[in-house]
Amino acid sequence: MPWFTSRREFLRTSGYLGFGGVVAGWGETADADDTGSRKKLVVDSHVHLKHGDAAKTEYTAEVIVRVMDAVGIDLSIVFAMSTTTRRSIEMAREAVAQYPDRLIPYVYALPHYQRPVIKEIEEVLVGGLFKGIKIHAGECTLADYVIDPVLELAGHLRVPCLVDCLGNISAARRMATTFPGTWLIIAHMGRYLCTDPKLVDQFIALAEECENVFLDLSGVVLVDKIEEAVQRVGSRRIIWGTDGPHPKPDLVTFAREELEKIRRLEIPEEDKDNLLGGTILRLVRK
Ligand SMILES: [Zn+2]
Repeated sequence: MPWFTSRREFLRTSGYLGFGGVVAGWGETADADDTGSRKKLVVDSHVHLKHGDAAKTEYTAEVIVRVMDAVGIDLSIVFAMSTTTRRSIEMAREAVAQYPDRLIPYVYALPHYQRPVIKEIEEVLVGGLFKGIKIHAGECTLADYVIDPVLELAGHLRVPCLVDCLGNISAARRMATTFPGTWLIIAHMGRYLCTDPKLVDQFIALAEECENVFLDLSGVVLVDKIEEAVQRVGSRRIIWGTDGPHPKPDLVTFAREELEKIRRLEIPEEDKDNLLGGTILRLVRK
């Protein structure tokens, strides 16, 4: 079954019309290229306004949208890391103000036992513009006394948490089982550029075991494991993203190759639709 029959249907049901009404123009575009056949939105669910690399590289909303246009990506979920929660909110807010019909913001959770940020996170999520939370174990401990209030809030507000747990399967399992009502999107299917099939297997098994666990496909190089995950977990809990922008070989080629990686999979088209947008839109829709 199609989950949206057209972009207009998506706009009507997704809460996008709530984006300050600014997306009216987007609806018109949707009409113009709506030929009557169902058009599936392509959503990049993992895009950095600011990266966690050594240079803490930043990308403007203009650059991100230019790449999306070149590659054929309808919507992107954007967030900043390597900064405070407050600054991540400002950066995402500015980007989305420029392209309200193309970008969906997440708030970056950088909780610390000395610096609670839960109020700031709650405020922007309740405000409705921000649709999810990004957590990165490289900058924030996944210890219960720090991360649990964030996970509890996400469950309460029904927003997804994209968590990079750096391959720490026991931390992922603890979070998933302690908060069964919280949607956890495990970045990179466990670990960025992981070449250890046994480790990836453990994350797929966790998703099989826990229905609140979703798998993010950015930075996944063991492509056959994606096909296996679709079989074992189902495409309704698997989500494509680029982890871009990435400059090698160039911004557009990188994103295009990441998209092609999914299009080439030997799985049914319906599953590809879920990976490329269906699954994440079900989570960020309100
Ligand atoms: Zn990332």
